[in-house]
Amino acid sequence: MSDPALDTLASGEAAEPQELTDGFHLVIDALKLNDIETIYNVPGIPITDLGRYMQAEGLRVLSFRHEQHAGYAAAIAGFLTQKPGICLTVSAPGFLNGLTSLAHATTNCYPMILISGSSEREIVDLQQGDYEEMDQLAIAKPLCKAAYRILHAEDIGIGIARAIRAAVSGRPGGVYLDLPAKLLGQVMDAEAGRKSLVKVIDAAPAQIPAPEAVKRALEVLKGAKKPLIILGKGAAYAQVDDDIRALVEKSGIPYLPMSMAKGLLPDDHPQSAGPARSLVLKESDVVMLIGARLNWLLSHGKGKQWGTEPKKFVQIDIDPREMDSNVEIAAPLVGDIGSCVSALVKGMGDNWTAPPAEWTSAVKEKKDGNIAKMAPRLRNNNVPMDFHGALGALKDVIAENQDVILVNEGANTLDFARSIIDMYKPRKRLDVGTWGVMGIGMGQAVAAAVETGCPVLAVEGDSAFGFSGMEIETICRYNLPVCVVVFNNGGIYRGTDVNPSGSSDVATTVFVKDSRYDKMMEAFGGVGYYATSPDELSRAVKEALASGKPSLVNAVIDEKAGTESGRIGNLNPQSVVSKK
Ligand code: ADP
Ligand code: MG
Repeated sequence: MSDPALDTLASGEAAEPQELTDGFHLVIDALKLNDIETIYNVPGIPITDLGRYMQAEGLRVLSFRHEQHAGYAAAIAGFLTQKPGICLTVSAPGFLNGLTSLAHATTNCYPMILISGSSEREIVDLQQGDYEEMDQLAIAKPLCKAAYRILHAEDIGIGIARAIRAAVSGRPGGVYLDLPAKLLGQVMDAEAGRKSLVKVIDAAPAQIPAPEAVKRALEVLKGAKKPLIILGKGAAYAQVDDDIRALVEKSGIPYLPMSMAKGLLPDDHPQSAGPARSLVLKESDVVMLIGARLNWLLSHGKGKQWGTEPKKFVQIDIDPREMDSNVEIAAPLVGDIGSCVSALVKGMGDNWTAPPAEWTSAVKEKKDGNIAKMAPRLRNNNVPMDFHGALGALKDVIAENQDVILVNEGANTLDFARSIIDMYKPRKRLDVGTWGVMGIGMGQAVAAAVETGCPVLAVEGDSAFGFSGMEIETICRYNLPVCVVVFNNGGIYRGTDVNPSGSSDVATTVFVKDSRYDKMMEAFGGVGYYATSPDELSRAVKEALASGKPSLVNAVIDEKAGTESGRIGNLNPQSVVSKK
């Protein structure tokens, strides 16, 4: 045994009593050295004591009821803070539960580290049937940006440094870190342990765009008659809000925020083209993407939605491989958004010409028209509520409480809220992300409250809420300022489907009628509200937000309101045998 700590112990010499450390404490010290403050976890073998020691050493350790929600919390913490959110889970089943959120973090470019305890390597590798035996590292690899395993206590410092750097540098993403149970109990000399720790310097280095790429982008923009800027959640993540605002305003170009980029500039900004989305996608001739991918959410940059006007794309992204992923990019600008945007602003000089008034006034006209058309629908006070009446009420609440973070999931609840509720500040809208995951709600609500200290309003479809509903106990346990609104229309998409077979089972999309989700919140000591009209809903949410108490509003929505899959029903395959 060459471990100096153990050698000294074995020699029996009456030397100075040696200060020792172990794997548990090296993990904690390495995280703290790198300014990690919060851990999202579910305790169990072999990491129960790790969580206890973390708490004892001053980390904030928040325990969830299911790993997936701890993971969604960690992922969105990464988005909000630019530091990797840490999720800690037990082996095999806990690890697999956490894996969904790790994959989600990677898909959405959120920095996150999933740390899982694992079983004994020797037994796992010989497949001798260990407790929760699973080759977790191999399973995690294809679902994340990087995956590492640490086998020796003296490697904990470097292992955690590698995980942090992999998560936040370049395009951020999810990282898996495998900690076998044996590692945590390994002992080593405390001083040697301290020296083995690594502080990550400049974890996400600036990536400066090439000057010729900046020039090319400006040339393309200059040639535009009908330019458009699309801001994505990468732009929100970058936290260069002033630079982005400067670019948009100096250029005079209408902009479209993707869902989680809403509020980067306030949605009531004169250049916002949000309410004229269809027009600007169809008619624009030059489109500059800033931290937004041309994936399914933008119809891959082609097809009907994009009209027949030939387009040129300028794309700012930190990942060079994103360029030409779906269509040709005329001016790729590879670098971090802060550096790229400020280089563009500088390159525009003082004599930049605004886009032709014909274009900007056409956009404005369409936008004003659509807003005017929508207004009366949002002011209806129907009982039972429809989506417009209910969301019209919430739109006003957010306008009056602009620091509130809005978490949003569901089908119709998501689609309507995205377009109806205006956001006024950056990173205030957190939703289902690139995959359209149902189940992000309560995990994201917890992390949003914990990481920012701001009040949270989670607007949830009743089906979406079900995926993470038990975490309202977590919200109550930590007494977080979260108000959950469940849009209760009694089913998935709506509550009126009928079982075509005539058996006594209800249809596949239908839930228990008149469920009282508000009583769930009361069960854990939170405040429950029951709202049947937009006025009641508005009153309840205002009171809940002002109180800062965990609360849940059961908002009764007409069971006939809602369409199949919200706005993406077209993605459902059709059967030739049975038609709906
Ligand atoms: P949205 O869904 O809002 O359109 P996406 O998730 O599709 O946003 O796109 C985000 C893009 O932002 C990704 O391609 C990612 O590589 C990029 N990105 C993330 N952070 C940065 C950054 N700091 N600088 C440049 N690009 C970034
Ligand atoms: Mg996108």
